Amino acid sequence: MKYDYLIVGSGLYGSTLAERLHKAGKNILVIDKRPNIAGNIYTEKTEGINVHKYGAHIFHTNNKKVWQYITQFAEFNRFTNSPVANYKGELYSLPFNMYTFNKMWGVVTPQEALEKINQQKKEITGEPRNLEEQAISLVGRDIYEKLIKGYTEKQWGRDCRDLPAFIIKRLPVRLTFDNNYFNALYQGIPIGGYTKMIQNMLDGIEVRLSTNYLGHKEELDKIAGKIIYTGAIDEYFDYKLGTLEYRSVKFENEILDKPNFQGNAAVNYTDSETPWTRIIEHKWFEFGKDENGSDLPKTVISREYSSEWKPGDEPYYPVNDDKNNQLYLDYKKLSEKEDKVIFGGRLGEYKYYDMDAVIASALDMYEKIISA
Ligand code: UDP
Repeated sequence: MKYDYLIVGSGLYGSTLAERLHKAGKNILVIDKRPNIAGNIYTEKTEGINVHKYGAHIFHTNNKKVWQYITQFAEFNRFTNSPVANYKGELYSLPFNMYTFNKMWGVVTPQEALEKINQQKKEITGEPRNLEEQAISLVGRDIYEKLIKGYTEKQWGRDCRDLPAFIIKRLPVRLTFDNNYFNALYQGIPIGGYTKMIQNMLDGIEVRLSTNYLGHKEELDKIAGKIIYTGAIDEYFDYKLGTLEYRSVKFENEILDKPNFQGNAAVNYTDSETPWTRIIEHKWFEFGKDENGSDLPKTVISREYSSEWKPGDEPYYPVNDDKNNQLYLDYKKLSEKEDKVIFGGRLGEYKYYDMDAVIASALDMYEKIISA
């Protein structure tokens, strides 16, 4: 056997395990079907700007172990995510906080905001059964209608009454003037881009790009003792129990000959008529400066369009509703019979994962492997 581990996928899960196992003296081969490393956190320089090619990623965590681990491979800047919502030309601060409540209702004190929310959430009695009920019971109907409903239904392509409540619980609600989207002790963007960070993690490890595992499974399985598979679990089994649902995202990128398009990294279009969900202006993840600290004359923007995944598309977000979670569990049972293969990461575990949770899960898997 030439390799102890063949790692399929060079995203954050695969790269974390590759780094750990390589450090422990194991012989590793990492393959990826794309022509580049880093999976969906891949960044590419255009006009001096690190463009997040597969969607914007903002690292944030409360997990000190994860923070200490990842900062070995990159220094992080002080970026704090504070998206702006654009509802038919009205701008609101996100996440839902005193700035949002003031703009929505003219309320000035936290007490007034709370009274407004309490009055509006009365329409929900009992435990919220879906995203709509959860949203109204968190922030009331006005905010639900203007800032949540349109955005969520575009992003997920489903009625808010058919979506799980947990999705909206990702967003904080605060009675303070605080536009920080995340409740996280550590937050930032790796200086120099995510691709460079993954390159540092994979330093000294053999990597083969443009290599499709499932297309060459038989020969690839022969060269390694164990496989760590981070692709889609249903695809691994050739969809034999049915297809899991994913949302895909299409990006329309534009280089503009002006220094400032929207004045913020992310603007969400929360009405239901605008066809895109949000526009990312990548330079603001790094304060509009190049690596020497000079202002950049141009800007790169990406409009995001959400669509239902179909074979041939890139899967982005797993749709973790009951039906899909049940099907995933059936696939998981099958995967447990594959003695040689470990399934992990967003696609391997069919999970709406934040980056820090992916790293934590890979570090746990590493401990499990090493202590076995
Ligand atoms: N969301 C919303 N309005 C917004 C932003 C988010 O209703 O302006 C909801 C929407 O349902 C979305 C969820 O909150 O799916 C989680 O948003 P987040 O920004 O965490 O999603 P991601 O960055 O992973 O796409």
